Amino acid sequence: MLTVPEGHTIHRLAAGHRELFAGRPVTASSPQGRFAAGAAALSGAVLRDTEAYGKHLLHHFDDDRTLHVHLGLYGGFTDGPAPAPEPVGQVRLRLTTDLHWLDLRGPTACELFTPGEVAALRGRLGADPLRDDADPAAAYARIGRSTTPLAALLLDQSIVAGAGLVYVTEVLFRAGIPPTRPGRELAAHAWTALWEDLRALMLEGVARGRIDTVHTQHTPEAMRRAPRVDRHGGEVYVYRRAAQPCLVCGTPVRRAGLAGRNSYWCPTCQPDTVPGQRMTSKVSRRPAGSGAGRTPRPTRSSTEA
Ligand SMILES: [Zn+2]
Repeated sequence: MLTVPEGHTIHRLAAGHRELFAGRPVTASSPQGRFAAGAAALSGAVLRDTEAYGKHLLHHFDDDRTLHVHLGLYGGFTDGPAPAPEPVGQVRLRLTTDLHWLDLRGPTACELFTPGEVAALRGRLGADPLRDDADPAAAYARIGRSTTPLAALLLDQSIVAGAGLVYVTEVLFRAGIPPTRPGRELAAHAWTALWEDLRALMLEGVARGRIDTVHTQHTPEAMRRAPRVDRHGGEVYVYRRAAQPCLVCGTPVRRAGLAGRNSYWCPTCQPDTVPGQRMTSKVSRRPAGSGAGRTPRPTRSSTEA
């Protein structure tokens, strides 16, 4: 089953491409031909900087030219040291310098943006937990008055940009909140905790290059269980674990369609109780770092880079 890469992947790409190409003139081509005009317009330009915003990647070149890439389901980059090999498959865009090459295949979007189009993109995207300029209060202004289920709101890129199904599914589990709860039933303090946990998880994803969401006491080592086998790697609580026992309480994980996507949750750990009336249970569901209930996630200095 294919999934669109989540924001941590795009932020890693932006950082990697900056390191490889920024400050250098690049030669651009479109071996496949579908981006021939755009590549010709870019060729010879100097890459000033790169930027990730949600699931969108931007390469800012001199003279206000910006390359916009959205990988979608099928897109991907490969790169390596110069000289570049013969193009293999449908290479939409190839960037090369004296030192390095980068190939892009199968993206949903690969296009040149004007400054106005870049501004329009920024304007339609919500708060990206991985960006310092993110405005979680603006996201809550929409979430807190909506009757839409939280999972759908958090996946709406115009509200929260960059989080995909894995992060949304898992952060709701960690908060003890069912994905079906309407946004307006999420209290402001609960949103703050959810946002901070999402941000911490995604920062760790950038550092590690995979999505891990389990607390220290639920790792395979701590639980003496086999590691998860999944193309995407990473240890998770409920995502794609339908009918398997919850790592915390043993209840079979439930799956249901929600807003056109599969949703996974534990009916015991994420009870559908009325907010404010939830009973204290044996298992604390405070988010990481709130001080009680669960061992805080280890701090890694690399996540602050
Ligand atoms: Zn559970």
